[in-house]
Amino acid sequence: MKAAAFYEYGPAEAMRYADLPDPDLGLTDVLIRVQACGVNHSDLDSRAGTSRWPFELPMVLGAEFTGTVADVGPGAGPFCTGDLVTAFQQYNCARCGPCAKWRPDLCEAFEVFGTTRWGGYGELVSAPARVVLPLDPEDDMLAVAAGQCVVSTAWHMVNRQALVRPGDLVLVPSASGGVAGALVQCAKLAGATVVTTVGTVAKAERVSALGADVVVVRAGADIAADLLRATGGRRFDVVLDTVGGDLFGAHLSVLREEGTLVTCGAHAGEVVPLDLIRLFRNGWRIVGFRLAGPDDLAASLELIRRGAVKVPIAATFPVSDAAAAHRFLERRQHVGKVLLVAS
Ligand SMILES: [Zn+2]
Repeated sequence: MKAAAFYEYGPAEAMRYADLPDPDLGLTDVLIRVQACGVNHSDLDSRAGTSRWPFELPMVLGAEFTGTVADVGPGAGPFCTGDLVTAFQQYNCARCGPCAKWRPDLCEAFEVFGTTRWGGYGELVSAPARVVLPLDPEDDMLAVAAGQCVVSTAWHMVNRQALVRPGDLVLVPSASGGVAGALVQCAKLAGATVVTTVGTVAKAERVSALGADVVVVRAGADIAADLLRATGGRRFDVVLDTVGGDLFGAHLSVLREEGTLVTCGAHAGEVVPLDLIRLFRNGWRIVGFRLAGPDDLAASLELIRRGAVKVPIAATFPVSDAAAAHRFLERRQHVGKVLLVAS
């Protein structure tokens, strides 16, 4: 097969559209011909060699993809050549100790497409049939390939970690990003009133369109005061943070007593000041997002297929020019998801 692969770490050009052996098709595997594959920021780190995963090179990236069945192992069940499918972006082994104790999220032999095994940046991907999900002709193949990672992250944060309930007041700072946009929509589905912040008036309209009840454009020096003015003084039950950085303390400060902040990203700054006295006097909970489990992946794919959560698409590139997609992402001027499509 042809695939965008890198043989050593480096800049976007380290990825070459090259001939590679077809992936092995095991007894219970399905071979998928890729139509569309999502590009994630973590792909850039993987290629550059700054992620902490021990890759086996050459590596073919791509965690989330859609396509058609190209071949079926003899024990892979009721799949037929030509079926439309997607696959869970990561999966557990179903054999180790934690898996036997119904904790797939603690699996000792976890597999992630595009990280521990080849993913969707090529013509073909081999996947165990148990993680392959059939799609219908009505499904939007681009939307499904674009949304699994961000929507499953948001769904897990809202429903498993923050435990958002109807009537809760939820803050999503810097809501123009991909996960943040999905957080706004998932918190609305959970029945919350959602307040967001954005950097510019132009972004405010896009975030309102996702369903945010109040959008605060960052202008003054005191974002905490601006937020509390917007809520009539009511403090937040939950903060869903994807950015970290200098404003982390301000976002934490508007939580009610025993409120919860869940964090999953730190593009605005990884190390933040934290006033421990305020933390324990208020009984605030700060929770880190680690992993979306299989139930969250299934729920997110269902939400995307039904159109209940939408992930805007910024651009598509042919997989033969995956390097251009990485350069586009590195410029950080886009809004929405970047996809590779079959050349
Ligand atoms: Zn396991």
